[in-house]
Amino acid sequence: MIYLKDEKSSIAFGKTLGELLEKNDVITLNGDLGAGKTTITKAAAKALMIEEPVTSPTFTIVCEYSGRLPLYHFDAYRITDEEEMYFIGFDEYLTAGGVCIIEWAENISGILPGKRLDINIEYHDDNTRKLSLTPHGERYENLVKELMKHEDTWN
Ligand code: ADP
Ligand code: MG
Repeated sequence: MIYLKDEKSSIAFGKTLGELLEKNDVITLNGDLGAGKTTITKAAAKALMIEEPVTSPTFTIVCEYSGRLPLYHFDAYRITDEEEMYFIGFDEYLTAGGVCIIEWAENISGILPGKRLDINIEYHDDNTRKLSLTPHGERYENLVKELMKHEDTWN
C-alpha cells in the first residue's frame, strides 16, 4: 500500500511513473472523482517530456500527446457501452508504440488488455490518498518493483 500525503506527493509519484514508462505500456487509473487520476497523468506526461498542457479528455474519450513516447490519455468516465471504445480505435492505440493511461478503466473492464498495471486510488484522510498497484504480467511486476525503489521520494 502506498500513501501519498498531498497533491505534491501524487505529482512526485506520477513523475516516477512517467520516467519508467516504456513503449506499449498500459496503465489504468481507478478512483472516485477528485481522487487524483488526472494529477498523476499530468505528472507522468511531464516526465515523458510532453510540453503541451494535458487536460481531461472526458468529452473526447482520448487525447494524444507527443513526447519521449507518445501518450494516449483516455477517460472512460462517460462510456456506457464498451463498443464506443472500438469506434475510437482503442485496440489500435494499445499497440501503437506509445503509452496508454486510462482513467475510469473500470467502465471498460471487459475490454482491457490482459497485461497492464492497475492503479487504484482511495481517499484516506484530509489530502492523503491510498494507492494500490496491481500488476498483470511480468513487465508490470517489474515496473512495480522499479516504482517502489523510489517510494521514499514521494512524501
Ligand atoms: P481525478 O482525475 O481523479 O478526478 P484530479 O487529479 O482531477 O482527480 O483532482 C484531484 C484533486 O484533489 C485536485 O483538486 C487536487 O488538488 C486535490 N488533491 C488533494 N490531495 C491530493 C492528493 N494527495 N493527490 C492528488 N490530488 C489531491
Ligand atoms: Mg480525471
